[in-house]
Amino acid sequence: MKKVLAIILAVAMIASIAVLSGCSGNSGTASTAGSADDGKTSGDAGTPDSKDTGKTYIIYSDNAFAPFEYLDTETGKYVGVDMDIMEAVAADQGFSYEMHNEGFDPAMGAVQARQADGMIAGMTITDERKETFDFSAPYFEDGQVIVAKEGTTLEDLKGKTVAAKTSTVGGEYAESIKDEYGFTINYYEGSDNMYQAVLAGTDVACVEDFSVIGYAIKSGKVALSIISDKPANVKGYGFAVKKGENAELLKMFDAGLKNITDNGKLKEILAKYGY
Ligand code: GLN
Repeated sequence: MKKVLAIILAVAMIASIAVLSGCSGNSGTASTAGSADDGKTSGDAGTPDSKDTGKTYIIYSDNAFAPFEYLDTETGKYVGVDMDIMEAVAADQGFSYEMHNEGFDPAMGAVQARQADGMIAGMTITDERKETFDFSAPYFEDGQVIVAKEGTTLEDLKGKTVAAKTSTVGGEYAESIKDEYGFTINYYEGSDNMYQAVLAGTDVACVEDFSVIGYAIKSGKVALSIISDKPANVKGYGFAVKKGENAELLKMFDAGLKNITDNGKLKEILAKYGY
């Protein structure tokens, strides 16, 4: 009996020495970060904001790309699929963010210049963009169509100008078919400017993502027709960060996206905007 007690005591002493030396040792070593983080997590766990990392991420987006992001003139707020996804993902993962609706090309520039931590803007995931951005899993799929006034045919593009939006895959698509159809390209900063140019007759047609122009036509806001037969280059839309940076934000976005896919929230958001 005495022997057993002695062994237990000895084991307990060794254990406590290990704990003590572990603690004091940590303060001067590389593993400090791990133990400091543990302390922070458990400290935070006692507060109501336990999931808040304390950082407010800066997110950029487009400003006229309904139904993904557009100004609700009644409330003066930006709404849309992307706005709702970002809100749902941030709520699910417990992080804060500030949304800046500046336009598509400005959003791409802001992420590359580190003015923004990430962007969500109906952004198509392409191999070329993967050289400078890291993308989340896709949350939607879309491709490009050619749009013009009713009665215009693809033959009518010959010798004319076609509108495309700066830095978009629509622009890339226009570049890839311009020789075949014999048109030249005028670039615009926003989707709305592009539609106006076609309506005003400045350009004979424009190239746009199918769901976006489809939504504009269906809502009666834009009196144009889709003149190409089916969407070209159909690919996923993803949330993006600058390549090699903001990995924790991207990880949270993916985890949140998975959760809102599994719990039906994403489906609900898409249904709200007619998908
Ligand atoms: N999906 C297109 C792209 O990624 C257009 C995005 C946009 O205009 N917001 O280029």
